[in-house]
Amino acid sequence: MARGSSSYEEMTNLPGPLRDRLADELPLSTLALERDALASDGTEKALFMTADGKPVEAVLMRYRDGRRSLCLSSQSGCPLTCTFCATGRMKFGRNLTESEIVDQALHFRRIEPVNHAVFMGMGEPLMNLDSVLAACERLPDVGIATSNTAISTVGWIPGIERMAREGPSVRLALSLHAPEESLRTELMPVNERYPLADVLDACRAWHLARKRQVFVEYLMLGGVNDRYEQAVALADLLQPRNAFKVNLIPYNPTGMFEGSSRKAIDAFKAILDTNGVPATVRLTRGRDIEAACGQLAAAPRSRPPRIHVPQPS
Ligand code: SAH
Repeated sequence: MARGSSSYEEMTNLPGPLRDRLADELPLSTLALERDALASDGTEKALFMTADGKPVEAVLMRYRDGRRSLCLSSQSGCPLTCTFCATGRMKFGRNLTESEIVDQALHFRRIEPVNHAVFMGMGEPLMNLDSVLAACERLPDVGIATSNTAISTVGWIPGIERMAREGPSVRLALSLHAPEESLRTELMPVNERYPLADVLDACRAWHLARKRQVFVEYLMLGGVNDRYEQAVALADLLQPRNAFKVNLIPYNPTGMFEGSSRKAIDAFKAILDTNGVPATVRLTRGRDIEAACGQLAAAPRSRPPRIHVPQPS
């Protein structure tokens, strides 16, 4: 399976009777493919259903340099309610199992070889860390090295602390998004429970234990978090410098905010650079099929139009 077989029939290195028995008794996947979509940039999104009818989305990003990167979901929906993210607005289903996570990767492996994975799909991976870490241990079999796997979190401190102590040596990404506690709480209510200052302490401890940089994700929202002082404040927070690397993320429309202009993003990056914080700007992929960051909602938007029932006025 890890080498891309799409049926037991193809596994001719197994005895025939065993293949028949496997086909009868062991479904190839825990997920049923419901729909898939291909964006103009080659990004591919799949919508699956779990056996109990919970929607799950995953994305394959194809890059010119040959990188094949998967964006995996850890939960069906998400219990957190970040204001800018579409996933938080759908109904929360449940944590996914280890198999349901690995089966997302195997789906794309049946299409072509894959070599990177990020847990940036639906859900908060650190709220489902047992299954996420177990899945990360399987990904190398599928072709994705542990060092090419990243887990992204809102800053769920117990999970960050656990990742400092145990589990495979995967990368850690933090969705930071605002340098001030009050603004961050407004954008991401979870900040009330785990304030940014404590989250950054946990990230520094993870960095010391794992000897890797924390990737900081910073969504660029026009007039909200893209001002000069905020870039300076962000740079002040990210100490020691060598513990962090910043990735500025153009906002993908979810109907809530205006994204920062390209000029504002470049200016913000320049201020970080001047303050000794290296930053890159994330390439946006898959927007035309609502496969980009923050757009996964298994939403009716991408289904055929529903029949309009006139409401009594
Ligand atoms: N819950 C985890 C992982 C899923 S989100 C986390 O929050 O990190 C993956 C990334 O997409 C996060 O950095 C998130 O903040 C970002 N994101 C959410 N909504 C977005 C949007 N509308 N445009 C761009 N990025 C978005």
